[in-house]
Amino acid sequence: MPAVRMQKIRLGSATFVLASLGLALGARAGTDWPSVANGPYEQRYSALDQIDAGNVSRLGLAWYYDMESTRGLEATPVVVGDTLYTTGTWSRVYALDAVSGRLKWRYDPQVPRRVGAWACCDVVNRGVAVDAGKVFVGTLDGRLIALDAQTGGLLWSVQTTPTDRPYTITMAPRVIEGKVLIGNGGAEYAGVRGTLSAYDENDGHLLWRFYTVPGDAPDASDPQALARAAQTWPDPRWLPMGVGGTVWNAIAYDPQLRLVYFGTGNANPWNRYVRNGADSDKDSDNLYSACILAVHLDDGRYAWHFQTTPGDAWDYDAAEHLVLADLVIDGQPRKVILQANKNGFFYVLDRATGQFISAAAFADQNWARGIDPKTGRPQLAQTPYDGAQGRIVRPAPFGAHNWQDMSYSPDTGLVYIPAASVPFLYTPEKEFSPLIGAWDTGLNLAAQAAPADMDPLLLKALVKDAVHGALVAWDPVAQRAAWRVEQPMIWNGGTLATRGGLVFQGTADGFLRAYDARSGAQRWEYRLPNGVIAPPMTYEIGGVQYLAVMMGWGGAFALAGGEAAKVPDRDYRGHLLVFKLDGQATLPPPQPRELGVPDPPPSTASAAEIAEGSRLFNQHCGVCHGANAVSGSALPDLRYLSKAQHGMLQAIVLGGALENAGMPNFSRQLDATQVAAIDAYLIARAQTTRAALTQPGWWARVKAWGYRLIAPLLNWLNALKY
Ligand code: CA
Repeated sequence: MPAVRMQKIRLGSATFVLASLGLALGARAGTDWPSVANGPYEQRYSALDQIDAGNVSRLGLAWYYDMESTRGLEATPVVVGDTLYTTGTWSRVYALDAVSGRLKWRYDPQVPRRVGAWACCDVVNRGVAVDAGKVFVGTLDGRLIALDAQTGGLLWSVQTTPTDRPYTITMAPRVIEGKVLIGNGGAEYAGVRGTLSAYDENDGHLLWRFYTVPGDAPDASDPQALARAAQTWPDPRWLPMGVGGTVWNAIAYDPQLRLVYFGTGNANPWNRYVRNGADSDKDSDNLYSACILAVHLDDGRYAWHFQTTPGDAWDYDAAEHLVLADLVIDGQPRKVILQANKNGFFYVLDRATGQFISAAAFADQNWARGIDPKTGRPQLAQTPYDGAQGRIVRPAPFGAHNWQDMSYSPDTGLVYIPAASVPFLYTPEKEFSPLIGAWDTGLNLAAQAAPADMDPLLLKALVKDAVHGALVAWDPVAQRAAWRVEQPMIWNGGTLATRGGLVFQGTADGFLRAYDARSGAQRWEYRLPNGVIAPPMTYEIGGVQYLAVMMGWGGAFALAGGEAAKVPDRDYRGHLLVFKLDGQATLPPPQPRELGVPDPPPSTASAAEIAEGSRLFNQHCGVCHGANAVSGSALPDLRYLSKAQHGMLQAIVLGGALENAGMPNFSRQLDATQVAAIDAYLIARAQTTRAALTQPGWWARVKAWGYRLIAPLLNWLNALKY
C-alpha cells in the first residue's frame, strides 16, 4: 500500500487550525515529500511516475545549492508546498525555493565545534521534520529546536541531553500528532544512555521519555519495562554510568495501532565480557540494547521489543531504517515491520505484537550459524573474540547495512538495501577502564593495523579485495534477493523507489544511478565529483517531477575506513543536487584535493617506538583520521603534516590547540611520550608513502598488478589465522 500520509485533522480542536495552516502552506497529497522517509510508514516510496524507465536517460541537473561543507551530508530533504527544507553539517537548516533553488532562509544553531569530538560518525544531520508551520531539527549538541517554517525564526529550543556527557543528535526528528520525537547518539563513548523522548510541538515541553537501558530514572515513561530490562544486566556496577542503547536513527509509526517504533544501538562498551563479566555467555541479553521496540504514542509505555543481537559483542546496532508494510505471508495479510540489520540479517516482525516472522542473511556474515526460526534468536557460530587472539568477523561495526535508508516499493514488493561486506578483527583490549566522555569500546581497534612500512599499494590491494558493496533488491516474503548489483566500495547512499518503476541511488565513488525496480538493469548514470551517502527523494511542482539528493562524502566509514574509503581526486565540497527531465544546469568545475607527496622530517625513532605509535594512533586517532593514517575523508591526512605541524603535535593533541576546530584534547587519554610515539608512527607512514609515490611509474604498475593477484590469498591466510 502507498505510504500513509501524516496529515492530521481533528475536527473541533486546535490541531484542526494547525492542520489547516499546514494545508495553507501548500501540502498536497502525492506531490510533496512531507517527512524524511515520506510518511510514517517510512517506505521512501513515491507515487510520482513522470520520470520512468523510458525517459530517465533525459534526467539532467536542474539546480544545485552549495552546502558550505566538505564533510558528510546525510539528510533527506523535506518538501512542503514550494519549499524544500534540508540540513547540512553542524546541524544547519536551509529552506530553499524547491523550483529555483533560491535560498529563503538559513538557520545556524551555532553548535560549539568542540562537540565534534563526541560525534563518533561525523558532524552530520539527517534532516528536519515539518508540521503545523514549524520546522524541527535536532542539533549535534543535543538541542531540539523549532523554527518558523516561513521565516526561519527561532520559536523554541530545549536541551534534550545532559551537556556534560558525550551525547549527540544526528537523526531527523519525527512529528506525530503534535508530538516531536527525538533520540540521541553516543553509545561508542562512556557515559551515555539511550532515550526516546516526546516533546510538545507547540512549546517544546517534555511529554514523556522512554529509557532504553536500566539506571536511575524517576521520569521514565515505563518503570516496569525498565525493571525487567535490569534483570538482563548481570553486573549492575555498570548501570549508573550509562550503558548505551541509543536511539540514534530510525523511527516509524502506525496510525491505526498508535504505536511508535524505533531501534536501539549497541550496549556500552562493545566488549560484552567487560560489561557482563564471567556471565557474558549466559543470561546477559542487555535489554533493550540492539532491539526493535514499540511504545504507545500517547504516553511512551512499552508495547513490545524484539532483540536482534542479544548480548551484542560487535556493535550490531538495531537503529537502521524501519519500514512498515502490509504483506501477504503464508496466505495471511500481515502488518509487518522490516529491517535490514547491521548484523547482516533481514528481519520481518509482526508490528502489532512484535512476534518474529522470519529472518535471512542479505549480506556476508560469519558471526551466526543462522536464526532460530521459532524465537528469532541468533545461533552463534563461535564465541565472539576467541580470547585474546581475536576473530575476523563479518560484518564489521560499519554493518552489513547502516543508517543509509532502504526503500520499499509496493509495486514490486521489494526492499532496496544499500548493503556492505566488510571484515573486522574483533580483539579485546588488554586493560580497560572506562573514561567518561572518551571513545570507549573495550576492544583493541589497533589489532588490525597494517605494519607501518607496508607498501601502500599492497595495503590498497588487500582492502579492495576484502571490502565490497552491493545494492540488494530483497523479497521480504520469500526472504531472498530478487537481484543485486555489485559495487566496488561500501558506504553507498540510501535508496528511493518510485511508481515510475525506478530505484535511485548515489554511490560512494561518485555516481548517481537509476535502476529498473524489477530487473535491476541500469537505466541512467550521472557522474559526480564527490561521493553520495544520503538517500534521494522526489517531489512534483507545477507538473514537473524533481529528484533531489545531498552529495557529501563523510560519516563513520569515510572517517575511519582509511584506504577502503579513499577515492583519488575527490572534490569534497558538499552540494544539494536537484534533477529534472532535460535539466541543463552544470556543477562548477571540480576542485580535487591534491595531496601530492608527503615531505616528513627524518625518522629517528626505534622500531619499537613506531610500533607503539601505531597501536596508539589506530586505537585513539584512526576513527577520525583513518585506519593506518590514510584519511578517506576531508579530515587531514596526517601523513602529510608539514615539519612545522609535527613540531606542534603535542600542543594540538595534549594542549587542545585546535579544540575549537573540532580536534579533541586527548590529555586525559595520552601523555607526552605517547604523543611522541604517534608522531614517530606518522613520520614512518609518511616516509613509506613518499617512497611509494616517488618510485618509477612502470615499477608501481607492475607491483600493483602483482599485489592484486596475491591479495585474495593473503586475505584468506589472514582469515585462517584469526
Ligand atoms: Ca553503535
